[in-house]
Amino acid sequence: MINVLASSLKRPLQVLKSPAPHWVGDGFHVRTMLSYHRNGATVSPFLLLDHGGPTEIVPSLKPRGVDEHPHRGFETVTIVYAGELEHRDSAGSFGQISAGDVQWMTAASGVVHEEKYSQAFTEQGGTVEMVQLWVNLPAKDKMTPPRYQTLLKETIPVVEVADGAGTVRVIAGALGEAKGPAKTFTPLNLWDVRLNAGAQADLAVSEGDNLIVVVLHGEITLNGSDVVHASELALFDRSGEHFSITAHQDSKVLVLSGEPIEEPIAGYGPFVMNTEEEIKQAMLDYQSGKMGHLR
Ligand code: MN
Repeated sequence: MINVLASSLKRPLQVLKSPAPHWVGDGFHVRTMLSYHRNGATVSPFLLLDHGGPTEIVPSLKPRGVDEHPHRGFETVTIVYAGELEHRDSAGSFGQISAGDVQWMTAASGVVHEEKYSQAFTEQGGTVEMVQLWVNLPAKDKMTPPRYQTLLKETIPVVEVADGAGTVRVIAGALGEAKGPAKTFTPLNLWDVRLNAGAQADLAVSEGDNLIVVVLHGEITLNGSDVVHASELALFDRSGEHFSITAHQDSKVLVLSGEPIEEPIAGYGPFVMNTEEEIKQAMLDYQSGKMGHLR
């Protein structure tokens, strides 16, 4: 029995520290914890993860954030922990998300959008904290029409970890009987995990999937051996299924797992395609207005 479990243990390969934070637009002070430029295929189907804040925003009249910009070839997933964000895009979508909510935007063939704090939050000020994750699309889906999913807090199932150890919010994929509300193009899990100090969670993902455990706050040990501090993440070997997270402090952790997309990546700024030709085309299409504009 012990051998069976040991043979299916999923092992961390690397623990990575994140670089110093930088500003995105005038609203988001973020650490780029994960990037396909640095981490390549080991993180597929994920491309990038920025952790923004916690940052104090002083009250003002003009909403801060990121002005109109395009995306093509992937999805942007925004998880709000504190603050309130507004999104407007060239497909006519509008959404407002606040603490606990998630916006899952499929840019696919191309979208132009802006991401700003809401007017009400701007006037009131306060703490902001969020994560933006970029999820790649398979080549066959990169040019499908854009799609926008607002995943409100109430629609995201919360799974209690055994013995009151904490909770897992299943944003995408599944955990036991709980299924996340996000529609995805390839099989993946996105779990928002809170563990109490001293607690342990035993989790499993599919054999062959890439697995990334991101520590936003706190400090954890993986499989009883590898320590991961706040603002660090662990990349796992694809083989194996089971892993454990033990929290040394109250910890806020994101678990990302998914079937790797085994295709070449060509990326430039807000465009992630498969070839340089497609990147050039994306620039031309954006410049000529084919991705639309905000009204
Ligand atoms: Mn954007």
